[in-house]
Amino acid sequence: MSFGNPHIRYWFNPAPADLGESEEQFLRALGGPAVLHIPGKDRSRNRAICTLLHGNEPSGTRAILRWLKQAVAPAVDVLCFFGSVKTALTEPLFHYRQLPGEPDLNRCFKPPFDTHQGSTAKAILDTLIEMHPEALIDIHNTSGMGPSFAVSMNQDRTHKALAGLFTKRMLVTGLKLGALFEYSERNVATVTIECGGSQDPRADQIAYQGIMRFVTEEDVLDPKPADWDLEVLLEPVRLELTGDTRISYGNQEDAQADITLPPDVENHNFGRVSREVQLGWVNPLSWHKLKMNAPDGKDVKDKLLRLEGRSLFPAQALKLFMITTNPAIALSDCVFYAVRDSGSDID
Ligand SMILES: [Zn+2]
Repeated sequence: MSFGNPHIRYWFNPAPADLGESEEQFLRALGGPAVLHIPGKDRSRNRAICTLLHGNEPSGTRAILRWLKQAVAPAVDVLCFFGSVKTALTEPLFHYRQLPGEPDLNRCFKPPFDTHQGSTAKAILDTLIEMHPEALIDIHNTSGMGPSFAVSMNQDRTHKALAGLFTKRMLVTGLKLGALFEYSERNVATVTIECGGSQDPRADQIAYQGIMRFVTEEDVLDPKPADWDLEVLLEPVRLELTGDTRISYGNQEDAQADITLPPDVENHNFGRVSREVQLGWVNPLSWHKLKMNAPDGKDVKDKLLRLEGRSLFPAQALKLFMITTNPAIALSDCVFYAVRDSGSDID
Protein backbone atom coordinates (compact mmCIF):
# COMPACT_ATOMS: atom_id res chain seq x y z
CA MET A 1 0.00 0.00 0.00
CA SER A 2 1.11 3.58 -0.64
CA PHE A 3 2.13 4.39 2.93
CA GLY A 4 5.18 6.16 1.63
CA ASN A 5 3.63 8.18 -1.17
CA PRO A 6 4.21 11.83 -0.23
CA HIS A 7 1.46 13.07 -2.56
CA ILE A 8 -1.47 11.32 -0.93
CA ARG A 9 -2.30 10.56 2.70
CA TYR A 10 -3.24 6.96 3.49
CA TRP A 11 -5.67 6.43 6.38
CA PHE A 12 -6.72 2.88 7.33
CA ASN A 13 -10.11 2.27 8.93
CA PRO A 14 -10.77 5.65 10.59
CA ALA A 15 -13.16 5.59 13.56
CA PRO A 16 -16.41 7.48 12.77
CA ALA A 17 -15.66 9.86 15.67
CA ASP A 18 -12.37 10.87 14.02
CA LEU A 19 -14.11 12.04 10.86
CA GLY A 20 -15.42 15.29 12.38
CA GLU A 21 -18.96 16.54 12.88
CA SER A 22 -19.35 18.35 9.56
CA GLU A 23 -18.12 18.15 5.97
CA GLU A 24 -15.69 20.94 6.72
CA GLN A 25 -14.27 19.19 9.80
CA PHE A 26 -14.00 15.99 7.77
CA LEU A 27 -12.00 17.72 5.02
CA ARG A 28 -9.80 19.37 7.66
CA ALA A 29 -9.17 15.93 9.17
CA LEU A 30 -8.06 14.70 5.70
CA GLY A 31 -5.85 17.78 5.32
CA GLY A 32 -5.08 17.26 1.63
CA PRO A 33 -5.36 14.54 -1.03
CA ALA A 34 -6.19 11.34 0.85
CA VAL A 35 -7.27 7.75 0.52
CA LEU A 36 -9.36 6.08 3.23
CA HIS A 37 -9.13 2.30 3.32
CA ILE A 38 -12.27 0.73 4.80
CA PRO A 39 -11.96 -3.01 5.50
CA GLY A 40 -14.84 -5.15 4.26
CA LYS A 41 -16.37 -8.52 5.13
CA ASP A 42 -14.37 -10.11 2.29
CA ARG A 43 -10.82 -8.80 2.70
CA SER A 44 -9.59 -10.56 -0.46
CA ARG A 45 -11.22 -8.07 -2.84
CA ASN A 46 -11.49 -4.28 -3.01
CA ARG A 47 -13.37 -1.54 -4.87
CA ALA A 48 -12.54 2.14 -5.18
CA ILE A 49 -14.49 5.39 -5.09
CA CYS A 50 -12.88 8.66 -6.11
CA THR A 51 -14.46 12.05 -5.53
CA LEU A 52 -13.75 15.75 -5.08
CA LEU A 53 -11.44 15.90 -8.09
CA HIS A 54 -13.28 19.20 -8.49
CA GLY A 55 -13.43 21.26 -5.30
CA ASN A 56 -16.95 22.58 -5.93
CA GLU A 57 -18.59 19.16 -6.32
CA PRO A 58 -19.56 18.00 -2.83
CA SER A 59 -22.11 15.19 -3.38
CA GLY A 60 -19.57 12.34 -3.34
CA THR A 61 -17.84 13.60 -0.18
CA ARG A 62 -21.19 14.05 1.60
CA ALA A 63 -22.30 10.56 0.59
CA ILE A 64 -19.10 8.86 1.73
CA LEU A 65 -19.12 10.75 5.04
CA ARG A 66 -22.77 9.77 5.61
CA TRP A 67 -21.95 6.13 4.93
CA LEU A 68 -18.85 6.10 7.17
CA LYS A 69 -20.74 7.77 10.03
CA GLN A 70 -23.25 4.92 9.91
CA ALA A 71 -20.36 2.45 10.19
CA VAL A 72 -22.03 0.04 7.74
CA ALA A 73 -19.43 -2.61 6.89
CA PRO A 74 -18.84 -2.91 3.14
CA ALA A 75 -18.99 -6.27 1.33
CA VAL A 76 -15.34 -5.96 0.29
CA ASP A 77 -12.53 -3.52 1.15
CA VAL A 78 -13.26 -0.02 -0.18
CA LEU A 79 -10.73 2.68 -1.01
CA CYS A 80 -12.11 6.24 -0.94
CA PHE A 81 -9.99 8.84 -2.73
CA PHE A 82 -10.46 12.58 -2.13
CA GLY A 83 -8.64 14.81 -4.63
CA SER A 84 -9.00 18.58 -4.31
CA VAL A 85 -9.39 18.78 -0.54
CA LYS A 86 -7.53 22.08 -0.15
CA THR A 87 -9.44 23.60 -3.06
CA ALA A 88 -12.75 22.61 -1.45
CA LEU A 89 -11.62 24.09 1.88
CA THR A 90 -10.66 27.43 0.35
CA GLU A 91 -13.39 29.84 1.51
CA PRO A 92 -16.20 29.82 0.71
CA LEU A 93 -16.41 26.05 1.24
CA PHE A 94 -16.96 23.99 -1.96
CA HIS A 95 -16.71 27.10 -4.12
CA TYR A 96 -13.69 26.58 -6.39
CA ARG A 97 -13.51 23.86 -9.06
CA GLN A 98 -9.75 24.48 -9.05
CA LEU A 99 -7.89 27.37 -7.47
CA PRO A 100 -7.33 30.43 -9.68
CA GLY A 101 -4.33 29.93 -11.95
CA GLU A 102 -4.07 26.21 -11.21
CA PRO A 103 -4.81 23.34 -13.61
CA ASP A 104 -7.97 21.23 -13.43
CA LEU A 105 -7.01 18.05 -11.53
CA ASN A 106 -9.34 15.97 -13.70
CA ARG A 107 -7.32 16.97 -16.79
CA CYS A 108 -4.02 15.90 -15.17
CA PHE A 109 -4.35 12.10 -15.34
CA LYS A 110 -1.83 11.89 -18.16
CA PRO A 111 1.91 12.36 -18.46
CA PRO A 112 4.03 14.34 -17.78
CA PHE A 113 2.47 14.72 -14.28
CA ASP A 114 4.82 17.68 -13.73
CA THR A 115 2.47 19.94 -11.76
CA HIS A 116 1.27 19.69 -8.16
CA GLN A 117 -2.07 18.40 -9.52
CA GLY A 118 -0.21 15.98 -11.78
CA SER A 119 1.58 14.53 -8.72
CA THR A 120 -1.77 14.01 -6.98
CA ALA A 121 -3.19 12.39 -10.13
CA LYS A 122 -0.17 10.07 -10.40
CA ALA A 123 -0.44 9.14 -6.71
CA ILE A 124 -4.08 8.15 -7.27
CA LEU A 125 -3.20 6.10 -10.37
CA ASP A 126 -0.22 4.43 -8.62
CA THR A 127 -2.41 3.46 -5.67
CA LEU A 128 -5.02 2.00 -8.04
CA ILE A 129 -2.35 -0.04 -9.84
CA GLU A 130 -0.98 -1.28 -6.52
CA MET A 131 -4.36 -2.18 -4.99
CA HIS A 132 -5.98 -3.43 -8.19
CA PRO A 133 -9.64 -2.77 -7.24
CA GLU A 134 -12.30 -4.74 -9.13
CA ALA A 135 -14.14 -1.49 -10.01
CA LEU A 136 -13.72 2.28 -9.71
CA ILE A 137 -16.46 4.91 -9.48
CA ASP A 138 -15.54 8.60 -9.84
CA ILE A 139 -18.26 10.89 -8.42
CA HIS A 140 -18.87 14.41 -9.73
CA ASN A 141 -21.55 17.11 -9.83
CA THR A 142 -22.52 18.94 -13.00
CA SER A 143 -21.97 22.69 -13.10
CA GLY A 144 -25.62 23.49 -13.78
CA MET A 145 -28.85 21.77 -12.84
CA GLY A 146 -29.80 18.63 -14.70
CA PRO A 147 -30.36 14.91 -14.38
CA SER A 148 -27.70 12.39 -13.39
CA PHE A 149 -25.71 10.32 -15.89
CA ALA A 150 -22.66 8.10 -16.13
CA VAL A 151 -19.66 8.52 -18.44
CA SER A 152 -17.67 5.51 -19.60
CA MET A 153 -15.21 4.50 -22.31
CA ASN A 154 -16.97 1.17 -22.67
CA GLN A 155 -20.51 -0.07 -23.02
CA ASP A 156 -19.95 -3.69 -22.03
CA ARG A 157 -22.03 -5.36 -19.32
CA THR A 158 -19.60 -4.53 -16.53
CA HIS A 159 -19.70 -0.79 -17.19
CA LYS A 160 -23.48 -0.86 -17.63
CA ALA A 161 -23.79 -2.63 -14.28
CA LEU A 162 -21.66 0.02 -12.55
CA ALA A 163 -23.59 2.89 -14.16
CA GLY A 164 -26.90 1.22 -13.27
CA LEU A 165 -26.05 1.41 -9.55
CA PHE A 166 -26.46 5.18 -9.82
CA THR A 167 -28.36 6.34 -12.88
CA LYS A 168 -30.38 5.59 -16.02
CA ARG A 169 -28.13 7.23 -18.61
CA MET A 170 -24.64 6.49 -19.83
CA LEU A 171 -22.46 8.45 -22.23
CA VAL A 172 -19.82 6.43 -24.02
CA THR A 173 -16.86 8.43 -25.22
CA GLY A 174 -13.36 7.84 -26.52
CA LEU A 175 -12.45 11.50 -26.10
CA LYS A 176 -9.09 11.84 -24.32
CA LEU A 177 -8.95 14.88 -22.03
CA GLY A 178 -6.75 13.53 -19.24
CA ALA A 179 -9.66 12.59 -17.01
CA LEU A 180 -9.29 9.84 -14.40
CA PHE A 181 -11.68 7.40 -16.09
CA GLU A 182 -9.62 7.38 -19.30
CA TYR A 183 -6.37 6.42 -17.62
CA SER A 184 -7.58 4.12 -14.86
CA GLU A 185 -9.59 2.13 -17.40
CA ARG A 186 -6.48 0.21 -18.47
CA ASN A 187 -6.29 -1.40 -15.02
CA VAL A 188 -9.83 -1.34 -13.67
CA ALA A 189 -13.40 -0.99 -14.94
CA THR A 190 -14.15 2.70 -14.35
CA VAL A 191 -17.32 4.75 -14.59
CA THR A 192 -17.69 8.47 -13.87
CA ILE A 193 -20.96 9.45 -12.24
CA GLU A 194 -22.33 12.95 -12.70
CA CYS A 195 -24.92 13.10 -9.91
CA GLY A 196 -26.54 16.38 -10.95
CA GLY A 197 -26.10 19.98 -9.80
CA SER A 198 -23.98 20.71 -6.72
CA GLN A 199 -26.83 22.79 -5.26
CA ASP A 200 -29.43 20.09 -5.86
CA PRO A 201 -30.27 17.87 -2.85
CA ARG A 202 -31.34 15.13 -5.28
CA ALA A 203 -27.70 14.88 -6.40
CA ASP A 204 -26.62 14.14 -2.81
CA GLN A 205 -29.28 11.46 -2.60
CA ILE A 206 -28.24 9.85 -5.91
CA ALA A 207 -24.61 9.76 -4.77
CA TYR A 208 -25.54 8.29 -1.37
CA GLN A 209 -27.89 5.59 -2.66
CA GLY A 210 -25.47 4.59 -5.42
CA ILE A 211 -22.52 4.41 -3.05
CA MET A 212 -24.47 2.28 -0.57
CA ARG A 213 -25.23 -0.18 -3.40
CA PHE A 214 -21.63 -0.05 -4.61
CA VAL A 215 -20.15 -0.81 -1.18
CA THR A 216 -22.71 -3.29 0.20
CA GLU A 217 -23.63 -5.49 -2.78
CA GLU A 218 -21.77 -8.76 -3.18
CA ASP A 219 -21.40 -8.36 -6.92
CA VAL A 220 -21.43 -4.97 -8.64
CA LEU A 221 -20.12 -6.11 -12.03
CA ASP A 222 -23.08 -8.21 -13.05
CA PRO A 223 -25.97 -6.25 -14.58
CA LYS A 224 -29.39 -6.33 -12.94
CA PRO A 225 -32.44 -6.62 -15.22
CA ALA A 226 -33.09 -2.87 -14.77
CA ASP A 227 -29.69 -2.04 -16.26
CA TRP A 228 -30.95 -3.00 -19.70
CA ASP A 229 -33.16 0.11 -19.62
CA LEU A 230 -30.02 2.19 -19.46
CA GLU A 231 -30.07 4.86 -22.15
CA VAL A 232 -26.69 4.77 -23.93
CA LEU A 233 -25.46 7.89 -25.74
CA LEU A 234 -22.53 7.25 -28.06
CA GLU A 235 -19.55 9.49 -28.79
CA PRO A 236 -20.78 12.92 -27.76
CA VAL A 237 -19.05 15.91 -29.31
CA ARG A 238 -18.16 19.02 -27.30
CA LEU A 239 -18.89 22.60 -28.33
CA GLU A 240 -15.67 24.41 -27.44
CA LEU A 241 -14.80 28.07 -27.83
CA THR A 242 -11.43 29.55 -28.78
CA GLY A 243 -9.69 31.34 -25.91
CA ASP A 244 -10.50 34.84 -27.15
CA THR A 245 -14.27 34.24 -27.39
CA ARG A 246 -16.62 36.60 -25.58
CA ILE A 247 -19.61 34.63 -24.29
CA SER A 248 -22.64 36.24 -22.73
CA TYR A 249 -25.87 34.91 -21.20
CA GLY A 250 -29.08 36.88 -21.74
CA ASN A 251 -32.54 36.83 -23.28
CA GLN A 252 -31.42 38.92 -26.22
CA GLU A 253 -28.22 39.12 -28.18
CA ASP A 254 -25.36 40.95 -26.50
CA ALA A 255 -23.91 43.07 -29.31
CA GLN A 256 -20.46 42.96 -27.67
CA ALA A 257 -20.41 39.16 -27.48
CA ASP A 258 -19.33 36.54 -30.01
CA ILE A 259 -21.94 34.11 -28.68
CA THR A 260 -25.00 34.76 -26.51
CA LEU A 261 -27.03 32.01 -24.87
CA PRO A 262 -30.29 32.41 -22.93
CA PRO A 263 -29.93 31.91 -19.16
CA ASP A 264 -32.38 28.99 -19.29
CA VAL A 265 -30.43 27.17 -22.03
CA GLU A 266 -29.71 24.34 -19.57
CA ASN A 267 -33.41 23.38 -19.72
CA HIS A 268 -32.40 21.55 -22.91
CA ASN A 269 -30.30 19.09 -20.87
CA PHE A 270 -31.11 15.61 -22.23
CA GLY A 271 -34.26 16.78 -23.99
CA ARG A 272 -34.69 16.52 -27.77
CA VAL A 273 -33.72 19.73 -29.54
CA SER A 274 -35.19 19.87 -33.05
CA ARG A 275 -33.87 21.94 -35.97
CA GLU A 276 -36.44 24.66 -35.24
CA VAL A 277 -35.33 25.37 -31.66
CA GLN A 278 -33.17 28.48 -31.43
CA LEU A 279 -30.23 27.90 -29.09
CA GLY A 280 -28.89 31.46 -28.99
CA TRP A 281 -27.05 34.01 -31.11
CA VAL A 282 -23.64 34.06 -32.77
CA ASN A 283 -21.96 36.99 -34.51
CA PRO A 284 -21.39 35.55 -38.03
CA LEU A 285 -17.86 37.01 -38.00
CA SER A 286 -17.14 34.87 -34.91
CA TRP A 287 -18.46 31.57 -36.30
CA HIS A 288 -14.89 30.20 -36.55
CA LYS A 289 -14.49 30.60 -32.77
CA LEU A 290 -16.92 27.72 -32.22
CA LYS A 291 -15.26 24.29 -32.49
CA MET A 292 -16.87 20.86 -32.51
CA ASN A 293 -14.34 18.13 -33.15
CA ALA A 294 -15.09 14.42 -33.29
CA PRO A 295 -12.67 12.19 -31.33
CA ASP A 296 -10.67 11.64 -34.56
CA GLY A 297 -10.15 15.41 -34.80
CA LYS A 298 -12.61 15.93 -37.67
CA ASP A 299 -14.58 19.18 -37.39
CA VAL A 300 -18.29 18.30 -37.37
CA LYS A 301 -19.68 21.68 -36.37
CA ASP A 302 -21.49 22.27 -39.65
CA LYS A 303 -23.28 18.92 -39.32
CA LEU A 304 -24.58 19.85 -35.89
CA LEU A 305 -25.12 23.61 -35.82
CA ARG A 306 -26.29 26.19 -38.33
CA LEU A 307 -26.51 29.96 -38.33
CA GLU A 308 -29.55 31.70 -39.78
CA GLY A 309 -28.52 35.33 -39.86
CA ARG A 310 -27.28 35.72 -36.29
CA SER A 311 -29.52 33.00 -34.82
CA LEU A 312 -28.03 29.67 -33.77
CA PHE A 313 -29.99 26.47 -34.49
CA PRO A 314 -29.21 22.73 -34.52
CA ALA A 315 -28.47 21.49 -38.05
CA GLN A 316 -30.25 18.23 -37.14
CA ALA A 317 -32.20 17.00 -34.13
CA LEU A 318 -29.78 16.78 -31.21
CA LYS A 319 -29.57 15.75 -27.63
CA LEU A 320 -27.52 18.21 -25.57
CA PHE A 321 -26.16 17.73 -22.10
CA MET A 322 -23.77 19.21 -19.55
CA ILE A 323 -24.88 22.58 -20.83
CA THR A 324 -23.17 25.21 -18.72
CA THR A 325 -24.34 28.72 -17.85
CA ASN A 326 -20.99 29.45 -16.23
CA PRO A 327 -18.96 31.51 -18.75
CA ALA A 328 -15.62 30.47 -17.19
CA ILE A 329 -16.43 26.78 -17.70
CA ALA A 330 -17.83 27.43 -21.19
CA LEU A 331 -14.50 29.01 -22.14
CA SER A 332 -12.05 26.74 -20.33
CA ASP A 333 -13.92 23.46 -20.80
CA CYS A 334 -16.95 23.39 -23.10
CA VAL A 335 -20.41 24.90 -23.62
CA PHE A 336 -22.19 21.55 -23.97
CA TYR A 337 -21.95 17.98 -25.25
CA ALA A 338 -24.11 16.84 -28.17
CA VAL A 339 -25.21 13.62 -29.84
CA ARG A 340 -27.68 13.11 -32.66
CA ASP A 341 -31.12 12.51 -31.25
CA SER A 342 -31.07 8.92 -32.51
CA GLY A 343 -28.42 8.39 -29.84
CA SER A 344 -25.89 7.22 -32.39
CA ASP A 345 -22.53 8.85 -32.85
CA ILE A 346 -21.83 11.73 -35.14
CA ASP A 347 -20.11 10.81 -38.37
ZN1 LIG B 1 -16.33 17.36 -11.90
